This record gives sequence, structure tokens and C-alpha cells, in this order.
Amino acid sequence: LMTGKRGLIMGLANDKSLAWGIAKQLREHGAELAFSYQGDALKKRVGPLAEQLGSDFLIECDVSDMAALDTAFDTLRSRWDTIDFVVHAIGFSDKSELRGKYVDTSLDNFLMTMNISAYSLVAVAKRAAAMMPDGGSILTLTYYGAEKVIPHYNVMGVAKAALETSVQYLANDLGPDGIRVNTVVPSWMWGPNVQMYCQWQASERGVEPEDIKNELASANALRAMAADTDVAESVMFFLSDRSSMITGQRLLVNAGEYFDT
Ligand code: NAD
Repeated sequence: LMTGKRGLIMGLANDKSLAWGIAKQLREHGAELAFSYQGDALKKRVGPLAEQLGSDFLIECDVSDMAALDTAFDTLRSRWDTIDFVVHAIGFSDKSELRGKYVDTSLDNFLMTMNISAYSLVAVAKRAAAMMPDGGSILTLTYYGAEKVIPHYNVMGVAKAALETSVQYLANDLGPDGIRVNTVVPSWMWGPNVQMYCQWQASERGVEPEDIKNELASANALRAMAADTDVAESVMFFLSDRSSMITGQRLLVNAGEYFDT
């Protein structure tokens, strides 16, 4: 599906990252990959993972810093004239503000969360589009907390709503150049984030984390948790030519949570 295509994966931190499952599948389908990482500490982890997928193309990039983004795309262009896709798998907020109430969000954390988790897609899309003269595909990851109130998601939900709306505006702006912009929305997926959520909820409700996990799994239409491979399959669809006329879309993976807020 991806033979002859090359692109940038942003947001690989470790082998639990969604970006890892996505990168593995892209590679299996023939894509050539470059990876951006945030800071030296992560380079040590990202380097060996990239190597497993036949890539030595690592680029440092803190997406909250526009000069760093410019430098990162200059580095990308120094080896590749053009790219076919970008995976934006980046989000961040101060965890201490995710435990409490949304109403207590500080201005500093609101702006930081919006910058890193939402604006960064706009900044990346602008720079990536300049390297996509023959069109391309840009894909980000959002979450159901953009649409419904999910306990503890707080300001991240607001940032994801901005991110999802950005996908539509970017799709409209870049569509005339053949550049598609879409988002995959993983539902409850077993991994470090959901593990932490289960622990928080369990301690608040005086039950076991396993009980919360089972509750979450049974709240989906498919009565199961999604895995990173399920998310990666959907991402592959958006990055490949199989979705060549699809843009501005939001695809829920394992949707249908019956959350009562
Ligand atoms: P992760 O922690 O592995 O990935 C987040 C990445 O964001 C990390 O690589 C981190 O380095 C990067 N990042 C944070 N701040 C940055 C900055 N200033 N500059 C550059 N990079 C920065 O977690 P993940 O679960 O793989 O999350 C990837 C994306 O998927 C996020 O947008 C997340 O909100 C979304 N998502 C995850 C789930 C889930 O259950 N895991 C569900 C829905 C959506």
C-alpha cells in the first residue's frame, strides 16, 4: 500500500506510543520513514526503534517552538525533496490539571495544551504542505473527549475539539493542492493512558482498576477495547491511496461509548 511513499512520523516516544504501531505497519507496507523526537532524552529511545524499521533519519523537534519546527523541516528537506505523508501523534497537558476539574484549568496550562496539542498540527501542516507538490496525506489523532465530557480529560478535550475543527479547515485550505487532512479517533485503548485513568477512577470509586477496565470495554458497541494495531490499520487507510478522495474526516475506532456524564 505504501511502496514508493515516504513521510514523517511525529510523536514516537517509546514502543507503547500509538506512533510505534503506526510506523511498524507503514514500514510493513513499504513506506520510507523519518522520525521527529522531542529532546535528547527521547532520542535514545527513538533511535533504536527507528533502526528496527530501517530508518536512521531522526530529527529533533519541539513543536511548541516555531523556529525548531522550521529547522526540523529544513533538515527533512535536506535529505528528501518531497514527502507523501505526515503522522501527527502529539499531545500534551499538565497531568496535575487532568486530575481535578476543568473549571480549575490555569491560563498557562490552557495555552500550553492548545499550543502543543492543537496549534502544532496547523504549524506542521503549513510546513509539510510546502514539501507536497504532488499532494499528500496528513493524519492526526484525536479523542472522543472532544465530543463528550470524559472524566479527567478536561482541557485535553477542549484541545482535541480545536484539533478536530482544525482538520476540517486545513482540509479545505489544502484540498486544492491535493493534500488530504484527516483524523483517527481511538476509543478506549489499552495502554499507559488508559491504565492511569483506570487507577484514578478506581481510587476515587473504591474499586479495582480491573473493574474500571472491564466497565470501559463493555461500554463500547463492540464490547471490547481497541488495540494499537486497530488504530494503525485505520491510519494506513488514510495515508494510502485507498482514501484518495477522502479528506476532512474524523474516523472513530471502536466507537459507540455509552458514556453517561
Ligand atoms: P505518547 O505519550 O506515546 O505520545 C505523545 C507524544 O507527544 C510523545 O512522543 C511526546 O514526545 C510528544 N510531544 C509532547 N509534547 C511535545 C512537544 N512539545 N514537541 C514535540 N513532541 C511532543 O502517547 P500516545 O498515546 O501514543 O499519544 C499519541 C496521540 O494519540 C496523542 O495526540 C494522544 O492524545 C492521541 N490519543 C491517544 C489515545 C490512547 O489511548 N493512547 C487515545 C486517543 C488519542
